[in-house]
Amino acid sequence: MTSVSPHKKAKALKPSSRRPAKELCSECGLCDTYYIHYVKEACAFINQQIGELEEETHDRSRNLDNPDELYFGVHQHMTAARKTQPIEGAQWTGIVSSIAIEMLNRGIVEGVVCVQNTKEDRFQPMPIIARTAEEILAARVNKPTLSPNLSVLEQIEKSGMKRLLVIGVGCQIQALRAVEKQLGLEKLYVLGTPCVDNVNRAGLQKFLETTSRSPETVVHYEFMQDFRVHFKHEDGSTETVPFFGLKTNKLKDVFAPSCMSCFDYVNSLADLVVGYMGAPFGWQWIVVRNDTGKQMLDLVKDQLETQPVMSQGNRKEAVQQSIPAYDKGVTLPMWAAKLMGVVIEKIGPKGLEYARFSIDSHFTRNYLYVKRNHPEKLDAHVPDFAKRIVGQYKLPE
Ligand code: FAD
Ligand code: SF4
Repeated sequence: MTSVSPHKKAKALKPSSRRPAKELCSECGLCDTYYIHYVKEACAFINQQIGELEEETHDRSRNLDNPDELYFGVHQHMTAARKTQPIEGAQWTGIVSSIAIEMLNRGIVEGVVCVQNTKEDRFQPMPIIARTAEEILAARVNKPTLSPNLSVLEQIEKSGMKRLLVIGVGCQIQALRAVEKQLGLEKLYVLGTPCVDNVNRAGLQKFLETTSRSPETVVHYEFMQDFRVHFKHEDGSTETVPFFGLKTNKLKDVFAPSCMSCFDYVNSLADLVVGYMGAPFGWQWIVVRNDTGKQMLDLVKDQLETQPVMSQGNRKEAVQQSIPAYDKGVTLPMWAAKLMGVVIEKIGPKGLEYARFSIDSHFTRNYLYVKRNHPEKLDAHVPDFAKRIVGQYKLPE
C-alpha cells in the first residue's frame, strides 16, 4: 500500500482568505497549494531561515567576514555580462529567458516555472509551467507586482516532472527551498533575480500615477544605476525621473509591507542570480552561487559578452543622508533633484559600490520599518548579515 504524503491532505487557502503571514504576506503562492501544510516553517515572513537554507543549498552559509559574501551571499564568481543579441522586449538583455530556453531545448529540464501576464493587463502576473521556448519568451520582462509563482507547485507533483527550473525572487525561493524535498523532483534548478520595493497591483497604479507623465502607456520601468527611474512607453519613448525627485511622502505606503520587511534583496538561495545593480550601466550583473549555477551560466556563454565586475566611489555618506530624508518623506524640488542626480552620477558609487549603496539604503529603511511595526519579530526576522550591514549606520529612534 502506498502512503499519501501528509501535505496532500492539506487544503489550499481560498484567494480571499487571510494568509498566515497576515499583512506581511508577499503572495508567494505557497498558500494557494496543499504545501500550505509547511507554511509555518517555510514562509519567509514567519520563519526567516536564510542561514540554514544556505547551508543545505550551497553546503555552507555566507562568510560574514568576507565583505563580498556579507553583501552578495555565498558565491563562486561574479561577472558583468550582456547578450550580444539582446532579446527584444526583455527587461534588460534577456539573459534569464535565454538560460531557461537552453535548459528546456537541451532536455536538462522538462518544465520552467516563470510568470507571464494576463491578456487584460500587462502588469498582472500569471505564473505558468512553461514547456516550450515560446512560453518562456512570453514570460520575459518584469511584472513589477507581487506574483504568486509558487501557486503552480501542485501541478508539478501531478505532472510527474522530475527535472525543473524555477525562476523567481527571494521570498518565493526561500519558501521553495524549504519544501524542495517534498516536491518529488530528481533535480531542481533555481534561477533568481534580485528584488526590492515590489508592490501589489493597486500600489503599482499609484506609483505610476504619482511618478510618470503618462501612466497608462508605461510598458516597462527600472530603478537604474544612474540614480533615475527609466520608464519605457508604448511608442518606444523613454522617460527618466531622478530618484531624489520621487514623491516619497506620497510613495511611503506604496511598497508592500512584505518588501518593507525583506532582507533577501540578492536572492541568497538561488543557484544563479541575474540582476543589474552590480554592473556598469547597460550591463547585467551575474552571481554564480554554486556548481549548478555555473552549469546553467555555461549554457549561454557563447551568447554573452562579459567583463569583470568593478567597484568605484564611496556610498557611506549618501546612505547616511538618505536615512532621515526617507524617514521624514522629504521630496526635493525637481530642479534640485536633477542637479543632485547629475552630481551623484559623476562622483557617486558605481558597480559593486552602487549595489552596496542600494542594499544599505533598503536594509536601513526596512530595519526601521520592522522595528516600528513588528518589534517582536525584529531579532529573529533580521538575518545576521543584515544586522551587520545596518550596524554601520546611525539610525533615528
Ligand atoms: P528577462 O529575460 O526579461 O526575464 C525576466 C524573468 O523574470 C521572466 O522569466 C519572468 O518569469 C520573471 N519575473 C517577472 N516578474 C516577476 C515577478 N514579479 N516575480 C518573479 N519573477 C518574475 N535587479 C537588480 O539588480 N536590482 C533590483 O533592485 C531589482 N529589482 C527587481 C524587482 C522586481 C520586482 C523584479 C521582478 C526584478 C528585479 N531585478 C532587480 C531584476 C532585474 O530587473 C531583471 O529582472 C534581471 O536582470 C533579468 O533581466 P533579463 O532581461 O535577463 O530578464
Ligand atoms: Fe503563504 Fe507565501 Fe504569504 Fe507566507 S508569503 S503567508 S508562504 S503565500
